[in-house]
Amino acid sequence: MTVYLVGAGPGDPGLITRRGYDLLTRADVLLYDRLVDKRLLLAARKDAILVYTGKQPGHADRQPDLNRQLIDYGSSYDIVVRLKGGDPFVFGRGGEEVQALQEAGINVEVVPGVTSAIGVLTSAGIPATYRNMARSITIVTGHTGAERSNKENPLKNIVSPSGIAEYDDIEVRTKKGREDEIDWDCLARLKGTLVILMGVDNRAEIASRLMAGGLPRSTPVAAVENGTTINRRTVHTTLGHLADTELKAPAVIAIGQTAELDLTNYTQLPLSGLSIVNTRSRNQAEPLSSLLTDAGAQVIELPAITFHAPDDGGLDLRRHAAWLNRYDWIVFTSSNAVDAFFACLRDARDLGNLKVASVGTTTATTLREHNIVADIIPDREQSTAGLLNIMPAAGPISGRKETGRVLYPKAADAPPALAEGLRKKGWLVDEVIAYKTVPTSKDTSRESGVTPELIEMAKQADAITFTSPSAVHGYLELVEDGKVPSVVACIGNTTASAARSSGMAVDVVAEEQSAEGIVRGLIDFRNRLTRK
Ligand code: SAH
Repeated sequence: MTVYLVGAGPGDPGLITRRGYDLLTRADVLLYDRLVDKRLLLAARKDAILVYTGKQPGHADRQPDLNRQLIDYGSSYDIVVRLKGGDPFVFGRGGEEVQALQEAGINVEVVPGVTSAIGVLTSAGIPATYRNMARSITIVTGHTGAERSNKENPLKNIVSPSGIAEYDDIEVRTKKGREDEIDWDCLARLKGTLVILMGVDNRAEIASRLMAGGLPRSTPVAAVENGTTINRRTVHTTLGHLADTELKAPAVIAIGQTAELDLTNYTQLPLSGLSIVNTRSRNQAEPLSSLLTDAGAQVIELPAITFHAPDDGGLDLRRHAAWLNRYDWIVFTSSNAVDAFFACLRDARDLGNLKVASVGTTTATTLREHNIVADIIPDREQSTAGLLNIMPAAGPISGRKETGRVLYPKAADAPPALAEGLRKKGWLVDEVIAYKTVPTSKDTSRESGVTPELIEMAKQADAITFTSPSAVHGYLELVEDGKVPSVVACIGNTTASAARSSGMAVDVVAEEQSAEGIVRGLIDFRNRLTRK
């Protein structure tokens, strides 16, 4: 039994370490705080216990409670992960947690993280050190202590004037006297880069103390809000103007020569600055997410559907797969059907001379993963009609007296058009249910790793992608209030009509039914908008 204090990095879920991510996926219990990107929680096991350790009104100092909680979980579960923003030991009281656990005799391991103090600046193109310009980095808390002498209402002390606590885990002191143990005069003489965390509320006081200590008014200052996230905002100013600069927490404030620099890469990616929801199921989200990320988008994975075995547990599919020599063709219209079919195949040689038809570029890719090159794929429209156009009629190809037979492993709710069309061409068609698609509902959302925060993030996104009608329905069930990001992109016409009949305005219908097709569609759509 071990409690792992894992640094989650400054914001972007991609900035957690491999060790941290690995533990996250294995955790029995996962405790997370406010600064952790909720998308990371998607990686948790379905049966993991998720515990939010944010503010609890009425408790001024929650640290003792929190330590107790860590000890309790740590003595009952194998892998307890406490995810902390940035690095666990940079503010945020990670040290105290480790000590409390050690005193209780519980195993602890600390997994370092990218601290916002440096990572947020780096991602905003501000080098914390630079040859001959900044030869030291000093990380300071901006909570001077003075603002926390409110005896009447200690809780008020951790809440900024904007009503947003800068950080939930900061120490709350009710005793007067330890007002200001930071020696600002000394900091003013350091010459390197001064990095202030939790400094938004006290920026005026900090600036005036540093200037009183001799730091010139003209000293460059950069403040980076929400670093490494889609909402990042960088403000460059000077020490003299810091007090009147509008800032919102969380922000990292850098003071020193390098704060003037901006080494961000300005090559604009085609989807940069956009947050885009991927509603594909957990096991299928990856290719689309990677393509969107490569194109510069911030991806929010919200699995709106899950795949399940058919009601008979796959019995029917196994039966058909054991009798393949009856068939001339097998037709696949989805990757899921391909995977389900191959999971039932007893021996690869059972395929014999079976010809394979495939619709959709991802379906063909999945077939190739099973070392099958489809005999026919519609060359343009990846649709039922496209396949029916190129599928030969039954008689001549079968070379037998009786009519040829087609096996069609499909989704439980697949539309009837393909089987009907094949029958019109003279084929005997055996439709067999290979899997069923279930929209993620409020009841099953936790199983799919969907948290209310994630749903909220999805609603606020710029665009959403749908790759099946059931994803449309699943999404609407999850959000409840029908709120949809302003741009809706669908993989093909069937999905687009489902979206339209659910009241959505569809902006993009991919020309090619694939992840690439959707991304291309979104890029074209954006280009058209910007050209106007
Ligand atoms: N352990 C954390 C720091 C916790 S203190 C770390 O190593 O990063 C919380 C402060 O960190 C915030 O008040 C803010 O100053 C800074 N911070 C954390 N994440 C940030 C982000 N994404 N953008 C800007 N500042 C951030």
